[in-house]
Amino acid sequence: MEKEKGRLEKNKERRQKREKQKNQTMQNGKGGGGEDGGEGSPEPTTEKVTGTTRKCANCGQIGHIKTNKKCVRRSQLNSQLENLLAMASLGKD
Ligand SMILES: [Zn+2]
Repeated sequence: MEKEKGRLEKNKERRQKREKQKNQTMQNGKGGGGEDGGEGSPEPTTEKVTGTTRKCANCGQIGHIKTNKKCVRRSQLNSQLENLLAMASLGKD
């Protein structure tokens, strides 16, 4: 009985130690590459969740990039281009 108790105590200690190590590695900010083999290391992937935080080079708005359909300037440019094309095709003859 005494032996069993000691083993349980040791197990508990070991677990706490591991827990401590986990916290330390998280504080170090290394992230990934755990010695245990990793049980799903939490990595900050907020960029993917919230879309993009980049600034558009066309209109300067944040949340999309210049190749995005959301871009206002892009649609403006497109309509301008369409107009130009229409004019060009009209004046051809
Ligand atoms: Zn834009």
